[in-house]
Amino acid sequence: MTITTRFAPSPTGYLHVGGARTALFSWLYARKHGGKFILRIEDTDLERSTQESVDAILEGMAWLGLDYDEGPFYQTHNFDRYKEIIQQLLRQGDAYYFYCSKEELEQLRTDQMANKEKPRYNGKCRASGPLLQDSEPVIRFRNPTDGVVVIHDLVKGDITVANKELDDLIIARADGTPTYNLTVVVDDMDMKVTHVIRGDDHINNTPRQINILNALKVKLPEYAHLPMILGPDGARLSKRHGAVSVMQFRDEGYLPDALLNYLVRLGWSHGDQEIFSVDEMVEFFELNDVNVSASIFNMEKLLWLNHQYIMNGDPVHVARHLSWHMGQLGIDPSDGPDLIDVVKVQRERSKTLVEMAASSVYFYKEFDSYEEKAVKKNFTVGSDQVLARLRDELVVLTKWTAQEIHQVIVDLAEVLGLNMGKVAQPLRVAICGSGVSPAIDVTLALVGREKTLARIDRAINYIRSLN
Ligand code: GLU
Repeated sequence: MTITTRFAPSPTGYLHVGGARTALFSWLYARKHGGKFILRIEDTDLERSTQESVDAILEGMAWLGLDYDEGPFYQTHNFDRYKEIIQQLLRQGDAYYFYCSKEELEQLRTDQMANKEKPRYNGKCRASGPLLQDSEPVIRFRNPTDGVVVIHDLVKGDITVANKELDDLIIARADGTPTYNLTVVVDDMDMKVTHVIRGDDHINNTPRQINILNALKVKLPEYAHLPMILGPDGARLSKRHGAVSVMQFRDEGYLPDALLNYLVRLGWSHGDQEIFSVDEMVEFFELNDVNVSASIFNMEKLLWLNHQYIMNGDPVHVARHLSWHMGQLGIDPSDGPDLIDVVKVQRERSKTLVEMAASSVYFYKEFDSYEEKAVKKNFTVGSDQVLARLRDELVVLTKWTAQEIHQVIVDLAEVLGLNMGKVAQPLRVAICGSGVSPAIDVTLALVGREKTLARIDRAINYIRSLN
């Protein structure tokens, strides 16, 4: 048996962290077992589904690297098949045209309320019969009236629901379009999904879906319902807790692997290990290690993880993602030093790629102005002369390397009887516009000879204009 999982988002918004975690767990389970992972877009709610959301989901999946073996399938392309199954259920007597009027249902509700009963559809108008002419009834599934449904949930354990708690679900609307539970069942059946891994907000649908699958006489898939993700205040995670859309994390400078690592730990653990490569996730992932209780989204931990990935990840990989952020700042990274070298010198100090990009602009582009505080502190009287001496020494260097540059700075500090900072800091402000940068010799080596000399000239003129 090929293990087959699916991610089945409704395209009614962006791909949020909850959806991404469901996708990740389904993906991991398939990858672990040499199985198949399917992407299915559940777009039958025509009013709420948008192409923009479909694009956002596909973009999010691609950015996270959650590749699918089949799909994306669109439920709106599969209406004929749903109709076929609805007809089959009607023929078998497992579904029926429903002719109660709105008024009759209202009356039922009023009576139930008066009798202090839970208002629910009670099987009124359940009789079978052909479609009456000139009528547009909905179609209901004939749910068993006695017995129980047991969900053997791989996360939550056995859950038993009495059939008398379940009403006869509408499986086709008056206009003939199928409803959510029907389409899910048909697709899971046709796609031979072996493991339905989804959020536990769907757990109420599961016994209904099991009953339909039983009526269709197919083998049930295994179910695993994932606990909710909450914000730090204990409320369901939402926009007001900060970023929740996967692509917003990209925009804020997170690496996809850091987010994946964060997501895998949301509700799943493997000993006390915190950092997992994707290969390790695949190797260690087990559904029965998923927590039963809800997990809390912790931005600080995600930020910590991101920093770990930036510091310890392959610089080529980090540079590839940094490149996008440089582009966002209007910088073409081919206009300066190799971005991989920039990553190597910047990564200790950058928790996000947004920070790294912002503090790497001067490698590629002239800055507009000097940071005021840095000017006050370092462009003091006489600093122009220090810079002029530095320029004289630098211009004659035969090799433009960090080592040679370092020697120039050390030697000049000694000759002038100044401490290193008095030489290096004005130079740093001249080259970077602020008092913060990686080691100054490395910085100059990356900025390059021409730009360095031009910026020293610019700083000398600036200092002279001040004093
Ligand atoms: N389309 C449903 C949703 O986006 C998921 C259905 C399922 O996974 O069974 O919530």
